[in-house]
This record gives sequence, structure tokens and C-alpha cells, in this order.
Amino acid sequence: MVMLYGKKNKREAKYLEPIFGSKDEDEILPSYHLAKQSVEPRIAYQMIKDDLLDEGNSRLNLATFCQTYMEPEAITLMSETLEKNMIDKSEYPRTAEMENRCVNIIADLWHAREAEKYIGTSTIGSSEACMLGGMAMKFTWRKRAEKLGVDIQAKKPNLIISSGYQVCWEKFCVYWDIELREIPMTEDHLSLDVEKAIEAVDEYTIGIVGILGITYTGQYDDIKRLDQLVEKYNQQTEHKVSIHVDAASGGLYAPFVEPELVWDFQLKNVISINTSGHKYGLVYPGVGWVVWRDENYLPKELVFNVSYLGGEMPTMAINFSHSASQMIGQYYNFVRFGFEGFQSIHQRTHDVAIYLAKEIEASRHFELINDGNQLPLVCYKLKNEQDQKWTLYDLSDRLLMKGWQVPSYPLPKNLDKQVIQRIVVRSDFGMNMAHDFIEDLKAAIKELENSHLVFHEEAEIKNYGFTH
Ligand SMILES: *Cc1c(COP(=O)(O)O)cnc(C)c1O
Repeated sequence: MVMLYGKKNKREAKYLEPIFGSKDEDEILPSYHLAKQSVEPRIAYQMIKDDLLDEGNSRLNLATFCQTYMEPEAITLMSETLEKNMIDKSEYPRTAEMENRCVNIIADLWHAREAEKYIGTSTIGSSEACMLGGMAMKFTWRKRAEKLGVDIQAKKPNLIISSGYQVCWEKFCVYWDIELREIPMTEDHLSLDVEKAIEAVDEYTIGIVGILGITYTGQYDDIKRLDQLVEKYNQQTEHKVSIHVDAASGGLYAPFVEPELVWDFQLKNVISINTSGHKYGLVYPGVGWVVWRDENYLPKELVFNVSYLGGEMPTMAINFSHSASQMIGQYYNFVRFGFEGFQSIHQRTHDVAIYLAKEIEASRHFELINDGNQLPLVCYKLKNEQDQKWTLYDLSDRLLMKGWQVPSYPLPKNLDKQVIQRIVVRSDFGMNMAHDFIEDLKAAIKELENSHLVFHEEAEIKNYGFTH
């Protein structure tokens, strides 16, 4: 898969897709440089639409956490606000106020304390939010380390996280020259091993990241236990360590489905949390959030001022200009659904995941790794893999024939001999669709069992990608 494009990615194409009933049909339109002349809007629309035709139906994409459905009213509102620039606080003060409301709503869901000066911002997604959270930790660490007389040049600072981390943390560490101290996941520990995490702490640790919803397996790190151990550690040292929670998926899910779970600002050492509005915040891709429990944890150097109604307003972001429409979509969802609305939507999503897990377990072929009890993901591996005539990759291919995109991929380092398949359940994957899916899954297995498969000699894991 290519992610950066250039000359080597040009494909030869000598003809144009036919466009019905238009003379443009006979023109050659170049793909890699601008055509000399313009085409009519209808033609441009049709061509691009056609180009995208075979890409599959997003709602059957069971690989992604990102939203693939919004209500028509939300879509209207978002299309009507596309031109608003999020950074122009002065020109769009109402929009700025909506962002402010969203931050407060989210901080409230995460039990930020009135006694503390919580502070936060919208972002493009969790990746930007994690970058900001990580930078705040790094700057805070540096100040403290210098004060305590640590030679900060002697070693790279480090960040502690389980090996189930999302790639944004690897980027953060590369960009900011930080050692990523991975705590390996093991067969019986498919989330952060909190004891090992504490053992890895030293004077150069900028923080520990707990993940509320490991992307690979859907399991939550035990943040409460982590907080207890951090507290114990901090009691006996000046080199205090703190926790950032990467709640990209769980941050707007757990508060509704498991309100009793303690993972957020109720825990003393959790200083910042991020989430993706476009995951269980139910918005189309392009919005995330980060909140600090108190402005003390956000070093002043990282805050910049933009003009706002003749005055100045502090902002913190890596990007400058971008559309406010996603953030407005988030605010729409908060207004539209309220607490109970979110709760019932997520509860249904949870129920669908549990149903799928039961059905998949009932089939004799699979062993569940995640049963949808935390994040609504179902992960499973093949039972007796060696004796199977087909692999999970074959099954993915079969399901694709019916339009379902279900990824198969190896677990992270240490466990990478283990291939799993994962289904992410989202709000637009209803129980009816789940029934249809199970039927298609059973049919696909039957076909595989009866088909004549040709095997390669080497049974090593193929290099299939997965980035969500
Ligand atoms: C999805 C995800 C991210 C990245 O989020 P984006 O909003 O796609 O940038 C980071 N961490 C975790 C745990 C995730 O699941």
C-alpha cells in the first residue's frame, strides 16, 4: 500500500471513462496534469462518482472505528458550515462558543473537577490530540527534571505504553526524540501489564499512557490499578510520574455503557485524556478532543494566542486552518442525543457485538479473544490453526465477495505469530445486519470447507496491513 504519492504512482490510461450522453465522452481527460479546458459540473461529478464506484460500501467496512453514518440533518448542517474556519475565533465567535461547550460537556463526562481549572481543545483526531498530550508531558517533565538536577542531556526521555499502542504514539516519539518504552502484551495479558509499566519508570519518564480500548483487541488497560501503583511510586520520590489516557475509542463510549468504570479524572494521577469524536462520538472523520484536568499540566510555551473579538484567545493546535463543520457535527450530536440518546445507541451497539461474539463462538472454528464486553469489538482466532484447510485471510476474501470488509492481521510484537480477525461494531451496524452477516459468515465457511484450496509450501504470515 502506498501512502505518499508521486511520479512512480502514475498509471497509464489512454482513454477516458465513458460519460453518458455528453460530448465530453470523446475527450481525453488527463489524470496527472490539469486538462486545458474545464468540463461541466455534471460531468465532473459523474466522473468522480464513477471512479469511486468499486470502492465498497463504507457501512460494510467492519475494519474501522470511524463513523460511516450520520443523520441527514447533521449532514445538512455540516455541509452548510464547511466554509467556517475553526481558527477564526473572531470571525466565528458562535462557532468558537460551540467548541467551548463541547469541551465542557466532555470534561463533565470525564468527571473533571470544578475545583480544578480543566482546559481542552478540539483537534483533527486523536493523533493530533495525543501529540498535544505528549508534548505537554514532555515539557512538564523537562521543567521538573531540570529543577531536580537531572542531567537531561544524558539520556533520551521515555514514554511507557503497552505494545498494543496505536501508531500515533510511535510518531510522537519519533518526532519528539523520545524513547518509546513498550511493555509487551502476552497471551494472558492483552492489555497493559501495569506492574511491568511501573518497573519501567525512571527519572527520564515523561509519563505512562493507558489505553482505553486497545485498537487490536478492544480491551481496556486497567487504569485504576495503574493509578494506584503510580500513587505508590510517587509517594516515595520527587520524580513524579503521571498518566495520559488514550481514550480514542473508549472516551465517548465507556461513560455511557459502563458509567461505573473508574478510568478518568476521578483518578488523581490521570492528568490528560484524548478521544476521537469520529469514533464513538458519532461524527464523520475529522474531529478529536484533548482535555487536561488542570491548566497547570499544560505548559505555557505550548499555548499560542490568536485574535478574538479584538482581544486575544489562547489556542493549542498543530494545524491552523481547517473547517469547523466536524466540530459542529459533534455539537449537533450532543444536542440531539443527550446522555440517554448516546447511552441507548451505544447499548444497542454493545448488544450487537455480544450477539456476534456468541454466534462466532458457537461455530466450532473459532476461539474468541475479545467478546465485545468492553469496546464493541469481536476478535477471534482459528481453533487448531495447523489442521485447518483455510486461513482467516481466505475467510476475509470470501466475505469480501458479499461486500463485507473484515480484516485479518497478526497481533503486535511478541504475539505476531497469532493471526486474528476483528469486527468493529458501530452504531449503524444494526441487529438485522448482524443476522445477515452471520448467515454470510456461515455460508463462507461452508464454501471454504468444501472448496479445493491450493497451498503455498511456506506457512509463514503474509504481510497484510492494518492501520486502524
Ligand atoms: C484510532 C486511535 C488513535 C488515532 O486516532 P485518530 O482519531 O484516527 O487520529 C489513537 N489511539 C487509539 C487507541 C486509537 O484507537
